Amino acid sequence: MQDEEERQLADVALRTANSIFLARQRAEQELIRTKEALEAKTEALAHALAETEASLRERDRARAEAEAARRAAQDANEAKGRFVNMISHELRTPLGAIGGYAALLDEGIQGELSEGQREYIARIRHNQTHIVRLVNELLDLAKIESGQFQMQLAPMPVQGVLDSVRTMIEPQVLEGKLQLVVQSCEPTLCLHADSERIKQIVLNLLSNAVKFTPPGGAVRITTEATTETVRLRVQDTGVGIPADRLEAVFQPFFQVEASQTRGGGGTGLGLAISRELARAMGGDLTVESVVSHGSTFTLSVPRAVDNPCERPSE
Ligand code: ADP
Repeated sequence: MQDEEERQLADVALRTANSIFLARQRAEQELIRTKEALEAKTEALAHALAETEASLRERDRARAEAEAARRAAQDANEAKGRFVNMISHELRTPLGAIGGYAALLDEGIQGELSEGQREYIARIRHNQTHIVRLVNELLDLAKIESGQFQMQLAPMPVQGVLDSVRTMIEPQVLEGKLQLVVQSCEPTLCLHADSERIKQIVLNLLSNAVKFTPPGGAVRITTEATTETVRLRVQDTGVGIPADRLEAVFQPFFQVEASQTRGGGGTGLGLAISRELARAMGGDLTVESVVSHGSTFTLSVPRAVDNPCERPSE
């Protein structure tokens, strides 16, 4: 009987030991699987970390390159600004003297001139004016490109601009045997712009219109306003611009045909400057044209709200 109990006890102990052994074996296998999974995750993480570090390094490198390029462009712009400034001042003084002495000779201060001498003096003065204009335009362009251009934005009546440019362009219109039509606008209509720059743009458009319109043709300025914008249109019946050159005319130094500019008076800078100026005032300058029929340049400028330049009636 005691033997039987001992045998049963031994049997239970054996089974228990067996199941403990099996459980331990399972736990060990589970541990190995968990360790392997952890190792795989660690490896994936290390890989991801290496990739992140590489892309951060790439981003830093790209940033450094962009910053170096920005600084180089800024340095180049400043150097260009200094160069043009220096050249302009170095050129303006002697050019002023050339113009002044030519004018004195023309007035006969040193004695009467022969017909031939008068003609030569006229050519000297014409070329002097051309170089002065070129120098001034180069200076304007360099200032705009280097961001040094100061705008004095204020409300101003559109009619004032029209009156003043009409007076300035009339001699050229007469000389070109053209008809000039300046359509009046509402006296209360106002622009928000730099008055000198607006006149510079409109005058540039008008003198181009005169330059590129054969005798007998017409030049018109019209005005159109929406609640936010005023559009000044300078229209001519001249040679026109080919469709594939309409954007190029706003590029510095571009001329559709140099021989068309009467008397070599063009620099190819006027429209580039005019568009930059218009955009700097929150507006734009665009063109439509048909060869042999004429061109229309449209200057858009922000309208001054509430008619602040309207004068109260007295
Ligand atoms: P510029 O008149 O001094 O040559 P612009 O920049 O004012 O320089 O004009 C660039 C070119 O655009 C001109 O040379 C001419 O070929 C063309 N252009 C400008 N305005 C007109 C126009 N009203 N009609 C025909 N062509 C024009």
